[in-house]
Amino acid sequence: MNFSKEQVQGLAKKAYCPRCDLNKTVGNALCRRCRAKLPANMRAALEAIPNRDAFTVGRALRAAAHYFDVHFQSVRNFGGGKRR
Ligand SMILES: [Zn+2]
Repeated sequence: MNFSKEQVQGLAKKAYCPRCDLNKTVGNALCRRCRAKLPANMRAALEAIPNRDAFTVGRALRAAAHYFDVHFQSVRNFGGGKRR
């Protein structure tokens, strides 16, 4: 999955988080709650995304998706956490 500049701009303008549908701040890729779950180095690449190049943002989104999968899959498998 590669992001074009237009897709990054579109994502930045969306009012809702693509992962959980909470309100997010314009200019960021994910909402505050999702970003809070990520390590700081990943989080930084998902903030102020219109200022970043599409490759960086795309890579950061892939890293974030992988992180969420790996770190929260086990919680879901054991019935923990709320399904949204
Ligand atoms: Zn979110």
